[in-house]
Amino acid sequence: MIKGKNALVTGSTSGIGLGIAEGFAKEGVNLVLNGFGNAAEIETLRAGMASKYGVKVLYDGADMSNPGQIEAMMRKAAADLGGIDILVNNAGIQHVAPVEDFPLAKWDAIIAINMSSTFHTTRMAVPYMKSKGWGRLINVASAHALVASPFKSAYVTSKHGVMGFTKTVALEVAENGVTCNAICPGYVLTPLVEMQIPDTAKARGITEEQVKRDVLLAAQPTKQFVTVEQIAGVAVFLCSDAAASITGTNISVEGGWTAH
Ligand code: NAD
Repeated sequence: MIKGKNALVTGSTSGIGLGIAEGFAKEGVNLVLNGFGNAAEIETLRAGMASKYGVKVLYDGADMSNPGQIEAMMRKAAADLGGIDILVNNAGIQHVAPVEDFPLAKWDAIIAINMSSTFHTTRMAVPYMKSKGWGRLINVASAHALVASPFKSAYVTSKHGVMGFTKTVALEVAENGVTCNAICPGYVLTPLVEMQIPDTAKARGITEEQVKRDVLLAAQPTKQFVTVEQIAGVAVFLCSDAAASITGTNISVEGGWTAH
């Protein structure tokens, strides 16, 4: 059903976004990849995905903290592929520190990349989706869109904001065949999580092994990290006919975390 459609996945040069992009490519969906990284490695990734799955794969390095670059990316993607049917807002960063020490620049960057970029892409994507009478807006939020953890004030704020935005947009496009949902992952062992382990250890005065066992997986009753393939499977499901009435909500993929 989604074969031949076009998807743009922000932050898809690594981790969850890359997994979601690959999940769509397997279904025959053309892609725009976005994110940072080594130019040669990104080109290898782009070309490899295109030839492996026989789909068009473009890349745009727009900085998700820059509204002008986001607008340019959305215009170019629509022009190059003929319109974006599936938008996945996934780019995100993290910083762990007590609120009284939280660096101002980190606060601004997290709000811009994790939350405001979702507004800047969505506002550009919605008119085409409405005109086609079909579209899927998928926001990769977090368990931290629903509950909090200490030392993550900017991240938790940004993800709660994404959840509010998801519900609002869902109501606005509900009669147009367009759904808007958030996927709320628990801990997935991607570079974003690996990088926060040392800071969490410092903030809590414990070892990095203790952070993994007693802080991260302590929150997940399954005691297992979620995999990128599991998140990708949910994103593909949200684009199926079976998910057409799922809108304005969150799908938690976090091993029971928020059941506590
Ligand atoms: P990651 O660090 O592996 O990947 C992040 C991606 O975002 C990369 O492609 C990176 O280049 C890109 N990116 C970062 N800043 C950017 C910017 N300014 N402009 C454009 N691209 C930018 O992280 P991940 O764990 O895959 O996280 C992806 C999303 O999933 C984030 O929104 C994150 O908050 C969310 N999430 C992750 C976890 C987890 O445990 N890993 C849990 C819940 C939610």
